[in-house]
Amino acid sequence: MAKRLQAVRGMNDGLPETTAVWQHVEAVLRRLVSAYGYGEIRTPVVEDATLFIRSIGEVTDIVEKEIYLFNDRHGEALALRPEGTAGCVRAGIEHGLLYHQEQRLWHLGPMFRYERPQKGRYRQFHQFSVEVFGLTGPDIDAELMVMTARLWRELGIDQQVRLQLNSIGSSAARMAYRQALVAYLLPHQQQLDADSQRRLQSNPLRILDSKDQQVQALLAGAPRFSDYLDAASQQHLAALCHLLTELQIPYQLNERLVRGLDYYNQTVFEWVTDRLGAQSALCAGGRYDGLVEQLGGTSTPAIGFSIGLERLVLLLQQQPTLLPQPAPIDCYLIAAGQGSASAALQLSERIRTALPTLRIMTDCGGRDFKKQFKQADKVGARVALVLGEREIAQQQVIMKPLREQCGASKNDQQVVAQDQLIGHLQCWFKINTLNQETISE
Ligand code: ATP
Ligand code: MG
Repeated sequence: MAKRLQAVRGMNDGLPETTAVWQHVEAVLRRLVSAYGYGEIRTPVVEDATLFIRSIGEVTDIVEKEIYLFNDRHGEALALRPEGTAGCVRAGIEHGLLYHQEQRLWHLGPMFRYERPQKGRYRQFHQFSVEVFGLTGPDIDAELMVMTARLWRELGIDQQVRLQLNSIGSSAARMAYRQALVAYLLPHQQQLDADSQRRLQSNPLRILDSKDQQVQALLAGAPRFSDYLDAASQQHLAALCHLLTELQIPYQLNERLVRGLDYYNQTVFEWVTDRLGAQSALCAGGRYDGLVEQLGGTSTPAIGFSIGLERLVLLLQQQPTLLPQPAPIDCYLIAAGQGSASAALQLSERIRTALPTLRIMTDCGGRDFKKQFKQADKVGARVALVLGEREIAQQQVIMKPLREQCGASKNDQQVVAQDQLIGHLQCWFKINTLNQETISE
């Protein structure tokens, strides 16, 4: 028997019940960035593999273990993007968006990493990101944190997330600290887990991020990064903390907070939650002042963040009261008899043209009246519009309430002329003709 076809491991389908939550999150996000004046950028999912190796760094988990690499039919080395910042910077340089200009951008889309799939960790996942170019901060750093704080409030999860903040300083400060950290850890090498042992050679700052308890215990006695922080970065962090206090955004300084990617400097931050087990990071961001130059542009300060949307959706799904209510079907068109399919499709089109805010479904498949009413009930329709042969011949339609509303009971049904139907529906659904909005009761 042929192998059953299934989705690729770690890559999820979005079914209507879940996509409704995604659409809600996406609508809130779009409204948010629009309110701050940010513009959208869209870049391809596939990029030249070199882009990621040059930007993210060869000795990061992403490039060493997680990136999807392949050769196309001409032997070009391509990669599925594991994150969106590198592509955004590439596009910004290519189209001259960054040269001596300020840009406030956002993007949203799928990312790909070959990781072990588990709750909150997938091989295709989605990030919503913001990237700002040409501003040195710390005011813009603060804006990104206020923006995310507003997002959590609008989604109703502000009590479940905490802001963690750190500065990873200049690259010189990081080099000096890296040496001190390696000197401290080398004699204790045997106590490190396998990943940390490997990182000791390649990317020792990532050890600070280790989830291994023994490693964390060992780190308690390690040199502190704050002792190595350069003066400019110290001032930047202090000014940012001051702004956050003034803006009433609570934060925790976390000296162990580093980023998995090589290109960050100074401000790094994360919004974490206790509700998603080990996958606690909901949003991660930081300053990457060196990246534009590293990818061939002129030196341009930059800062951004990314939110893992699967984790955000999981968090919302834990709390049904935060989920959007599905919009009901307003009218269900039921018809039977000679010429009924055409009459029903035409009438529903007329209603949609006149009242674009209504949700109208037309029964299809030519089944009997009883089954059509059953289906109307199943989809939760509020009113059935019924066309039989007589109504079609006399240009009429029967309006039958399926839910109690506006003092009408389910037994009230009326025959109305088709050219007066729009007026009846406006009245029934309390639609304001001027702006087509449904007036809430
Ligand atoms: P983690 O420590 O959880 O692996 P990371 O440091 O690799 O995260 P970033 O590269 O900073 O994550 O990505 C930003 C955000 O994208 C994360 O905070 C998380 O919400 C989300 N994210 C990262 N990897 C995945 C994944 N494999 N599946 C789902 N979401 C992810
Ligand atoms: Mg990761």
